[in-house]
Amino acid sequence: MAGPLFDLGGKVAIVTGGNGGIGLGMARGLADAGAAVAIVGRNETKSNAAVADLTQSGATAISVVADVTDPAAVAAMVARTVRELGRIDILVNNAGITVRKPPDALSLDEWDSVIKTNLTSAFLCSQAVHPAMKAAGGGKIINIGSMMSIFGASFAPAYAASKGGIVQFTRSCAVAWAADNIQANAVLPGWIDTDLTKRARQEIGGLHGKVLARTPAARWGAIADFAGVAVFLASPASDFVTGTAIPVDGGFSIMG
Ligand code: NDP
Repeated sequence: MAGPLFDLGGKVAIVTGGNGGIGLGMARGLADAGAAVAIVGRNETKSNAAVADLTQSGATAISVVADVTDPAAVAAMVARTVRELGRIDILVNNAGITVRKPPDALSLDEWDSVIKTNLTSAFLCSQAVHPAMKAAGGGKIINIGSMMSIFGASFAPAYAASKGGIVQFTRSCAVAWAADNIQANAVLPGWIDTDLTKRARQEIGGLHGKVLARTPAARWGAIADFAGVAVFLASPASDFVTGTAIPVDGGFSIMG
């Protein structure tokens, strides 16, 4: 992407869950715009493959193995990124899981694991990068919500609660850290073809057709659909955009 508005040359990004799916789509966009990227995930093999993918096209990328629900691992992730890449300008809180059960069947452990992975991790990572962003003179936080940030989900109560929470957490950081020149925004993906939804398509009969019927764009999203929004929200082009939640959904959320 050309032009200083979208230039990420010299910037450093952390992408949690960047070793696959939407996170990898965003990491590719950021790397193509010039950012060095730390790919964070628990699965080292997957992360190494993502790093190879990025470095093959000329980017600087490192793999950081970390469980983002673990405060010590998050602190180590930040320290290693600063040590190896020099600074932190961009944080993408993308790591996420779901457990597909109605509220009456969900256990407390399942509830806790979804809230911890999808919501508490964003708090831990954002708090941990804040000093480095301040030191760099500003920063960009991009949190991944969902259509379930907007709609109720009979089969995913903890997921929907975590994704509703992510929007309010985003707004809170946007307000709290505006004085530090940190912009925080959320992205709300529609139905995107990833490992997460491959399982859903197998488990929920008729899901594929229902998504196509309800999405004005008449297709599932691809991970490449997330490169543009990531670059926009990470670059000077969005310096006066903060606290928003941007659907990237082919129109799913405005379909009557
Ligand atoms: P994937 O399952 O492909 O990716 C999830 C990523 O999160 C993986 O890279 C995984 O890496 C990482 N991850 C999970 N738990 C942890 C953890 N504890 N610590 C570190 N990393 C973790 O799913 P998607 O790409 O579909 O999902 C990405 C985000 O987008 C999620 O937040 C999801 O809720 C959201 N989303 C997805 C939609 C879709 O249709 N696909 C729709 C709306 C929102 P590893 O296994 O190596 O830890």
